[in-house]
Amino acid sequence: MQALVLQRAGELAVAEVETPQPRRDDVLVRVRHSGICGTDLKIFTGAVPVTYPLIMGHEMAGDVVSGGDGLVTPGQRVLVDPVLFCGTCVDCRAGRTNLCANGGIIGREVNGGFAEFVTAPRTHVHVLPDAIDTRSAPAIQVLTTCLHAQRRAAVGSGQSVAVVGLGVSGQLHAQLARARGAALVIGLSRSAWKRQVAERLGAHLTSSSGDAAVAAVRNATGGHGADVVIECTGHMKALADAIAMVRPGGTIVLFGIYTDREAALPFYQLYFKEPTIVSARAARPEDFPESIALVAGGAISISPLITHTVPVTQLREALAMLEDDVDGRMKIILEH
Ligand SMILES: [Zn+2]
Ligand SMILES: [Zn+2]
Repeated sequence: MQALVLQRAGELAVAEVETPQPRRDDVLVRVRHSGICGTDLKIFTGAVPVTYPLIMGHEMAGDVVSGGDGLVTPGQRVLVDPVLFCGTCVDCRAGRTNLCANGGIIGREVNGGFAEFVTAPRTHVHVLPDAIDTRSAPAIQVLTTCLHAQRRAAVGSGQSVAVVGLGVSGQLHAQLARARGAALVIGLSRSAWKRQVAERLGAHLTSSSGDAAVAAVRNATGGHGADVVIECTGHMKALADAIAMVRPGGTIVLFGIYTDREAALPFYQLYFKEPTIVSARAARPEDFPESIALVAGGAISISPLITHTVPVTQLREALAMLEDDVDGRMKIILEH
C-alpha cells in the first residue's frame, strides 16, 4: 500500500510499504479521511520523540475491509479510537485506560492513518451513523478528548464556562459546554474571525484575549469569575489569565499542552482563590459513542470547523500550514 512515512524528524516520503496484516481481534480499515493536529506537527519536527520509520495519523475514518469477528462488517464506515491500552494494569483495571503505561497512540507508538490502510483492535472501531460523513469524522477524535476533560471537570448544568483559545478544540469545548447545560459560555481569542465562528456555533459571548478577556469574564459573571475556565492554548500567559478569571473555588482545566518549564504565574491568587486544577490527557473508550451521538444528534457541529481538505500526499504542505495561525483556517482534513 501507499503510505506517508516519516523516515526521521523532518523527513517525510510517499513510500510503498506492506499492507498491515490484522491480527486476531483486529480490524483492517481502508482510510478515507484523516485529520492533522499539533501533535502530528510535534512528531514531524521531532519535539515528540518516536521510533522511526513511522506512519503518523491518529484521527482517521474509513471503511471496514476485514476482521472484527462480527462486531463490524466489511463496508461499514467507522471512526478509529487511537488510544491503545493493555486492559490488565492497575490503571486500566481502575478505568484509567488513557493513562495505561503499556499503551500508546495509533500514529505515535504504532503505525497510523496517513496510509491506505490501518489496523485497530475491534474494540477501537466505532460505526458512523449515516448523518456523519468520513470527511468530518476525524474531528470527532478531538471531541472525545474535550469530552474526557469536561467529564473530569464535571462541566454541567447552570455553570459559567470560559474557554481560552478558540482553535478547533476551543470551538468544540464551547459547543460541548453548552450541550452539557452550561448557562453562560464565553469564548476568548485575539482573532475576531475565531470569535465570530464561536458566536455562530453557540458561545453566548466572546471577547479578545489578555486583560480584555479577564475583564469580560468578570463583567459577565457579576465580578465573581467563571465557574470553569478551560485553557486550550498551552501558553503560560493564557494560563495566568485563566487563574485571574476563575471564580474563588472554581475549576481550571489545563487542556493546552504545556511545554514551558518555568513561567510568571499569579501563584498567590492560586492559593487565595483555592481553584481545582484539572488536567486531561487523550480520551477513554466511553467518550467515543457519546461524542458520535452528540454530533449525529446535532448538539455539536463539526462540519463548519473543517476549512481545508487536501490530498494525503500533500501532508507535508498541510503540516506547514499548521505552523502559522491564520484567520480562515481551522481543521485540515486529508483525503485518501
Ligand atoms: Zn490530534
Ligand atoms: Zn493498562
